[in-house]
Amino acid sequence: MSEIIKTKAVVIKKLDYGDTSKIATFYTEDYGKITGIIKGARTAKSKMGPVVDILNTLQIVYYKKENREVQLISKAELINHHSKIKEDLDKLKFASAVAELLLHLNLEDEAHPKLFKGTVKILELMNESKEVPEYYFIKYLIFFLKELGYEIQLENCSCCGNNTEPGEGYFFNFNSGILCMNCKNDQLISFEFSPELFNLLMCLSRRNNECKYSVKDLNRLIYFFEKYISYHIPEFKGLKSLHVY
Ligand SMILES: [Zn+2]
Repeated sequence: MSEIIKTKAVVIKKLDYGDTSKIATFYTEDYGKITGIIKGARTAKSKMGPVVDILNTLQIVYYKKENREVQLISKAELINHHSKIKEDLDKLKFASAVAELLLHLNLEDEAHPKLFKGTVKILELMNESKEVPEYYFIKYLIFFLKELGYEIQLENCSCCGNNTEPGEGYFFNFNSGILCMNCKNDQLISFEFSPELFNLLMCLSRRNNECKYSVKDLNRLIYFFEKYISYHIPEFKGLKSLHVY
């Protein structure tokens, strides 16, 4: 049995295959992560070839066969190719990290329209870029963890339950979460938040909010999230895109 599927998709990986074809991994709106072959994609007359490029948002059509690992893509139309991301090495680095997060987690055949929309949105924001790409990447990490059920609770100390206060430093244990000064002695400390860093994380966690930041602090938060995701999601092996440039 095969079924014709039409869905929006972001290209998160692309490989040459055989003499003329391409194999790509798509994060789709309706079916989660799928792998598809574009036959003849590398021939000069192929219309789909140039369209199926990394980080592009597309509308694709394919014949879904249940027990086939690689689906046959029959049509791909461009929605957004994020040209400014591809011209800028720094933007490319963080946009690639977004693709890498989706690529390495088990999201096959599972629709998650909200995660899809958030992914499309963050690529658009990185492309238009009012802020540095690190800023949008952290917004995305916070959103991503929430959607996958690993949201970090910032409002209270995970041990005594007291509300966290702006202007205070906090500690973090990967298992239990945020710890206040009084509770930190009983637990293993995985990370330390200075008052500025904690405020920044609080600010970035709120929606539709502008935050003041230094790039150094943003990088410190990205380091924290990488460790946190590695701790909670075993299949995650770190973000290579952030370390190769
Ligand atoms: Zn406490």
